[in-house]
Amino acid sequence: MSKIKFFLGESMPLEMHKVRVVQKLNLIPIEKRKQALDDGGYNTFLLKNREVFLDMLTDSGTNAMSDRQVASMMVSDDSYAGSETFYRLEKELQSFFGMKFFLPAHQGRACENIIAKTFVKPGDIIPMNYHFTTTKAHIELNGGKVEEVFTDEAVKITSTNPFKGNFDLDKLKKFIKEVGVSHIPFARIEMGTNLIGGQPVSLENIKAVANICHKNNILVVTDASLLADNLHFIKEREEACKNMSLHDIVLEIAKVTDVMYFSARKLGCARGGGICVHDVKLFDMMKDLIPLYEGFLTYGGMSVREMEAMAIGLEETLDPEMINQGPLFIEAFGKKLMEQGIPIVTPTGGLGCHIDARAFLPHVKSEEYPAGALAAAIFLVGGIRGMERGTISETRNPDGSEHPASVELVRLALPRRVFTMSQISYAVDRIAWLFKNRDLVQGLDFVEEPKVLRFFIGRLAPINNWSEKLVKKFREDFGDSL
Ligand SMILES: *Cc1c(COP(=O)(O)O)cnc(C)c1O
Repeated sequence: MSKIKFFLGESMPLEMHKVRVVQKLNLIPIEKRKQALDDGGYNTFLLKNREVFLDMLTDSGTNAMSDRQVASMMVSDDSYAGSETFYRLEKELQSFFGMKFFLPAHQGRACENIIAKTFVKPGDIIPMNYHFTTTKAHIELNGGKVEEVFTDEAVKITSTNPFKGNFDLDKLKKFIKEVGVSHIPFARIEMGTNLIGGQPVSLENIKAVANICHKNNILVVTDASLLADNLHFIKEREEACKNMSLHDIVLEIAKVTDVMYFSARKLGCARGGGICVHDVKLFDMMKDLIPLYEGFLTYGGMSVREMEAMAIGLEETLDPEMINQGPLFIEAFGKKLMEQGIPIVTPTGGLGCHIDARAFLPHVKSEEYPAGALAAAIFLVGGIRGMERGTISETRNPDGSEHPASVELVRLALPRRVFTMSQISYAVDRIAWLFKNRDLVQGLDFVEEPKVLRFFIGRLAPINNWSEKLVKKFREDFGDSL
């Protein structure tokens, strides 16, 4: 938590950095935003950046780099094999995680491909606190299935539980007994549980999960993509960790982890990824796949510039004032939204603010994708691009029926160090207006539906042309405002 106290009472997140490079933004009129939605199939993934004012789609690869990171990119050593840059990054990772071996990959999902190909056989079931879209897809492509063993708190939208990302340990034990260890090659712990609102896992829970797994000869795989936010929350919310340094906490997590992987598009504020292990046997099991899918073992599909920036970014992740910037902004954003009566996931977590689309649009059925419709409407009224994290992000049942998501969320990601508080206030203003006019928003219908990960490039259309009605009301209320 920021150590600064304020005289005027209201506390606010205060940036411990200054902005020295800026990028001009466009805010196009609402009629053009509607055209952009029509052209992009009401899928915020298919919008063009020039149409977007505040890009809150994701924190993946969009975090602002530090001056030290940018400077490091200039001294990278470029070589197909054996570059100095690789050895610098390897050394940084060995120190960061205390794990001896490192396999580079071009991003987080590429690590998931390597891990799933190496360890998952048809019939296997992988327990985890919650799935992530690409993780589940890779496990299923290799004939496995995913079993979520979260606590009842995890999918409660409003809660005061500080660690909604925790495993339910009894469910995990029961699951292992029922399925049998021969079908469970590993358990996966996701830090900063993405799809339920960037909710953290406690260090205590991580250790307990690892203990159960290791007693049963099950490997522990930790997805550290959202480690930075999770670290902040462990330090802030877990009594036993108050006096530990951030690095101590990372090392404790890594100590009980067999296979650590991460997306460096998030962790380390660069672009890339990697897998770290303690044991040379695990390293040998995976290493042949790296040149096949990623690139040679000393770059794994990453540019050397990004690798240099990642090494510095990892080092900076151990600075409390660097990693608190995201969570504190998200908390302030969430507070302002709640003051307007807007339903969000609480407590606020990492990576973004999550609006509860089921409560925002109670009249839209799951089969008509409330979170997808709300994400499109938020773009329409404010040029703010969020991401659907609801039923569109799920996969249909084998019989073709919809599989309604347990929670219907619109995520407004706050890439680290990118937005200012006035931009956040603008977003709150537009979302508050939309909330007042929410009856005008209806659902969406698929026009083009891909079989795998349909949320990325699927195209939809608004039921009953609701977007037109919303544009009309906007003009009535705001005149010629952008
Ligand atoms: C983003 C993310 C991934 C995938 O990483 P990419 O670099 O986008 O491929 C995996 N797991 C979690 C928890 C993530 O947030």
